[in-house]
Amino acid sequence: MQTFHDIAQYRRWRDSVGSPVVFVPTMGALHEGHASLVAQARQQAGHRGSVVASIFVNPLQFGAGEDFSRYPRTLPADEELLTAHGADVLFAPAAATMYPAGKSDMLVMPGKIGEWWEGADRPGHFQGVCTVVAKLLNIILPTHMILGQKDFQQYVILAQMMEQLNFPVELIVAPTRREPDGLAMSSRNRYLSAEERQRAPAIYRTLCWAVNEARRGDRDAAQLGQEIRQRVDAAGLVTRYAAICNRHTLIAVEGAIGLQDVILIAAKLGTTRLIDNMRVDETVPVALTPREMS
Ligand code: AMP
Repeated sequence: MQTFHDIAQYRRWRDSVGSPVVFVPTMGALHEGHASLVAQARQQAGHRGSVVASIFVNPLQFGAGEDFSRYPRTLPADEELLTAHGADVLFAPAAATMYPAGKSDMLVMPGKIGEWWEGADRPGHFQGVCTVVAKLLNIILPTHMILGQKDFQQYVILAQMMEQLNFPVELIVAPTRREPDGLAMSSRNRYLSAEERQRAPAIYRTLCWAVNEARRGDRDAAQLGQEIRQRVDAAGLVTRYAAICNRHTLIAVEGAIGLQDVILIAAKLGTTRLIDNMRVDETVPVALTPREMS
């Protein structure tokens, strides 16, 4: 695998290869969730195509007081993981390469959807995400981009950006990879103390329970949302939101919940913010014991 830190160098490589070029953007501190996206990209690209990953901890998407400066940076290990899963190229620019003037005056603004759920807690976050992904798409020039379902709102907003700004790139969404106890893999899991780590799977267990309840159809969205909060809080986390919303618009469901809906949870565990989600039509693993489901 070749690593490029520089746009001109990357472009020279890009000019030398044909289609498809499958792109996996990340912030690094890579784990098996990222690895599954890269493996899927390898499959999509085939032997003739190329897989490009990027690592960039984008200052524009972090708010004041968030974890930008302490976000884990593990480049050598990341390069190993990317190589092992079949990436051809890593693009890992410095902040000054992406934002030569120190910041970006030119911003890509999502609509109202950027102010809900994650956006309500993290003002400006999705504007930072859209701006950096637009820049990366223009630099990388991929034919396909793979995003994880783990960041559901990010995926929906970027899909809207790509459609409405006419990026000629096919978007693919990959399923969430989980630890054996169900906790969604995340670079931020390494912030958790041993005690917090034990509590963290409550989010996943609550999602499994809630999806089953939603499919049974005897609770409306407001009721179920409240019960989700209670369950997550009872496990010692602090729920930031428990959203039951349409999976295309992310507008909150009023009344009956349907198979087209998704449940999004954000919760804090100490200073760590965790997010996870499950579509109402998703298969809940049979391995969960009745005790875990209650
Ligand atoms: P990040 O490095 O956290 O910005 O994530 C980069 C990409 O990996 C995003 O598209 C995420 O949705 C995806 N991703 C993060 N965690 C997981 C996971 N546990 N399973 C699958 N994809 C993930």
